[in-house]
Amino acid sequence: MYRQISPSSTLLLNEQSAAIEKNGRQVFRFGFGQSPFPISDVLKTALIEHAYRKEYTQVQGLQALRNKVAEYHSVFEKRKINEDQIFVAPGSKSLLYTIMCAYTDAAVLIPAPAWVSYAPQAELIGHATLMMQTSFAQRYRITPDILERSLSEAAKNYQSLLVILNSPGNPDGLCYTAKELQALAVVLEKYQAKVISDEIYAPLQHDNQHVSIARYYPKGTFVTSGLSKWAGAGGWRLGIAILPEDCDSQLKDAMLGIASETYSCASSPIQYAAITAYSNNVTMSLYVQHQRTILKAVGLYIHKAVIDAGLHAHAPEGGFYLLLDFTAYRQSLKAIGLNTDSEICNKVLEDVGVALLPGISFGLSPKALCARLAYVDFDGTLALEDISEGEWSETLTIKHAQKMLLGIENLGRYLKQIDQDN
Ligand code: GLU
Repeated sequence: MYRQISPSSTLLLNEQSAAIEKNGRQVFRFGFGQSPFPISDVLKTALIEHAYRKEYTQVQGLQALRNKVAEYHSVFEKRKINEDQIFVAPGSKSLLYTIMCAYTDAAVLIPAPAWVSYAPQAELIGHATLMMQTSFAQRYRITPDILERSLSEAAKNYQSLLVILNSPGNPDGLCYTAKELQALAVVLEKYQAKVISDEIYAPLQHDNQHVSIARYYPKGTFVTSGLSKWAGAGGWRLGIAILPEDCDSQLKDAMLGIASETYSCASSPIQYAAITAYSNNVTMSLYVQHQRTILKAVGLYIHKAVIDAGLHAHAPEGGFYLLLDFTAYRQSLKAIGLNTDSEICNKVLEDVGVALLPGISFGLSPKALCARLAYVDFDGTLALEDISEGEWSETLTIKHAQKMLLGIENLGRYLKQIDQDN
């Protein structure tokens, strides 16, 4: 007998899209949340310089890197973080797993929608999962009420309570405000719950206004991040976690044990190169600032196109996602036999070449008719070249988002035609 676990839907759709393209058909690649931007030259140079590093590092990560990460995040999150709190791993995915795995008898409370891998990871470990449903009207945020209800329920049966938060959010591109986080922190503290705050998109908050819940609940928050999104280095697999302030040594020992028995350490050359990424140098800050400007302009432009196509979606605030809601077309889609989000996504991939990830992958009901769009199908290298020559402009947005606009216009025409015919 084998464990029942399917491939992660993000990675699967990425492979499917590549296969369709290989057969000569155009695919609008909105499915996979991979940064469109190249790795900065300073990072590439640093990696070349350190290619010879062949030794394993400390399991927790290179001390010099942990130092830089602590400094960087102390400034970024406006709180004091020290190097002992930092954990480095091959991707933040491994860290999410390691943190959850360190607990026994735990319930993991996950907002819906939320990124595709939280629940499967918790289930692999054997933890109970409890989904906290949100809605379009609530901007897909969990409220103190929802949290209170879920925690009081879970507290009846489980000793450890772990809550997942993600801001800026995947799949909705929305952020929690400082006030919302403060209110959630009060409830978390009341139940002595721990929060795992996935902040991998934080430097890409479009207005550079990221707020971490750790500011309001430092003793109960794990923050996870890494180089995948803001440094364009998903395939480098470099993740970091910040442990709760004054966390007990047994938790840390458990994490070190799990890490050493599974992945040993993150790749040494990548860790050495990452020191440059976290060194707050002018080149890196400008590079991230440019990404924010481009993503904000492109995100709002694509959002407008989505609304023109007759779909609902909130305007994005950070990262690179929009959550599309197809309910305005529910009746006509039903008339042609499309009743669920996956049926819609399969059909639009087949008929219009538009790759979207269905809401069910994010814990939403298939009948909610939602799908995630990642607005990353553009040439980030050319966009960065253009912005480095001067101000970003609408003309540049139109130039770079051309292909994505075409995909959404095609989708809109297709849906309106179905509406008309039915
Ligand atoms: N986080 C990205 C996404 O949601 C891709 C990476 C992954 O899922 O492992 O599309």
